[in-house]
Amino acid sequence: MKSELFLPIRSSKDLPETLKNTPFEVLLRSQNMEEMFEKFERAQILIGMCMDNRKQFRLPENFAYILRTGGGSLRHSEFKVSYAIGVGGVRHIALIAHNHCGMVHVADRREAFVAGLVENAGWDRAKAEEHFIQLAPLFEIGNEVDFVLSEAKRIRERYPKVMVVPFYYKVEDNQLYVIDEKKA
Ligand SMILES: [Zn+2]
Repeated sequence: MKSELFLPIRSSKDLPETLKNTPFEVLLRSQNMEEMFEKFERAQILIGMCMDNRKQFRLPENFAYILRTGGGSLRHSEFKVSYAIGVGGVRHIALIAHNHCGMVHVADRREAFVAGLVENAGWDRAKAEEHFIQLAPLFEIGNEVDFVLSEAKRIRERYPKVMVVPFYYKVEDNQLYVIDEKKA
């Protein structure tokens, strides 16, 4: 994967013009530059991100609705997305992919999944196998970058007045990168 696909945002001068004076700027300055912000009166953004335990973002108080799912997929969270927009008044959605995501090629984790459910949850093996076979395809994301870009496209079509921006988070440096969609 080409590294220039991910634009590092280390200081305000790295911010793309399109993201300036938007909640995405606050997100990037808060997480990447460790800036502190005043508490917000109401939510500014919806953040869709993976349930992965290695991700904890620094965010201002009251700033964001956060939906955490396997791989950050919002395919099965549509009512919650609509709620954040319709009731919460959110006009901006950040979709955050990350590296080393467990939902990439989740199909390969069948044995660990089954053995773990038997050991940790007390399931019988056949039931665990069936559970995996039924549900794994719904959560498989294939390639995390292709997936987040397709999610962004899908959500833009569904909610045309909402600004949707895909990001990439690297577990190692705890930084959010803007994905250059033109290079993808
Ligand atoms: Zn993940």
